[in-house]
Amino acid sequence: MINLDYTEHPVKEVRIVNDDLFELIVERNNLEFIPGDCAAIYTDTDKSRPYSISSGFNENELRFVIRMMEGGEVSPWLMSREAGDSIRITPPFGWFRPGQDIGDSPFVFLATGTGIAPFLSYMNSFKVPPVQCLYGVRKEADAIGYAELQSYCPTQLAISREETEHHKGRLTDLLNMLQLDSTTHYYCCGLESMVNEVSEWLQENGVGLMQIHREVFFHG
Ligand SMILES: Cc1cc2nc3c(=O)[nH]c(=O)nc-3n(C[C@H](O)[C@H](O)[C@H](O)COP(=O)(O)OP(=O)(O)OC[C@H]3O[C@@H](n4cnc5c(N)ncnc54)[C@H](O)[C@@H]3O)c2cc1C
Repeated sequence: MINLDYTEHPVKEVRIVNDDLFELIVERNNLEFIPGDCAAIYTDTDKSRPYSISSGFNENELRFVIRMMEGGEVSPWLMSREAGDSIRITPPFGWFRPGQDIGDSPFVFLATGTGIAPFLSYMNSFKVPPVQCLYGVRKEADAIGYAELQSYCPTQLAISREETEHHKGRLTDLLNMLQLDSTTHYYCCGLESMVNEVSEWLQENGVGLMQIHREVFFHG
């Protein structure tokens, strides 16, 4: 059955980052959300997928960081939108709350690819930064928000598919750089394999399950 609970949002810009990565920027139209929330976005044929909001809760626009999946039902359609087109978005929802509801405890962000979106939303909303952020991308140009993140908290990039001044390889190569103690909370978002590997490593190193927070965008 089609979920008719949505609002219309004019597209302000589709900011192309590279062949398969873009930011979708739409009018917010007073849509309420909490950093960490996602919202389902519909195509004109009523297909929908969830996307995490990357903008801050005091901004007038909604932003999304989206990887275009070749042959996909929704992401290629979104990438081909133009300024002035209208798209339908459901009320935001979610349970992933980076840096929130943990009192004064320190916290760390770990993201691969578009999994950076909820952390950008946090950074764009709150003044209290994480103690560090590990961010894994394929190419340096894919590291959306890196300069802002770097000025906000110590941020290490892992770049898997090109040589740069940053670490060449996967985010999980950098786990030994993590601050480990009994009070720190760890927020992981992105590919399931990364989220699982990080969770296992943290548990092997004595971190309790209640301190590990997970959001999986892509399985497999
Ligand atoms: C809670 C949540 C939040 C999400 N937030 C974001 C976000 O902020 N940004 C974002 O880009 N995506 C996000 N996603 C993923 C998004 O919802 C879609 O799954 C994605 O855009 C693909 O949808 P599609 O319709 O284009 O492709 P589909 O039609 O669903 O799939 C097309 C083909 O691509 C394959 N495929 C899908 N994903 C992958 C992958 N990672 N690697 C290899 N093959 C794959 C499918 O198996 C299929 O064969 C989120 C998912 C969840 C569950």
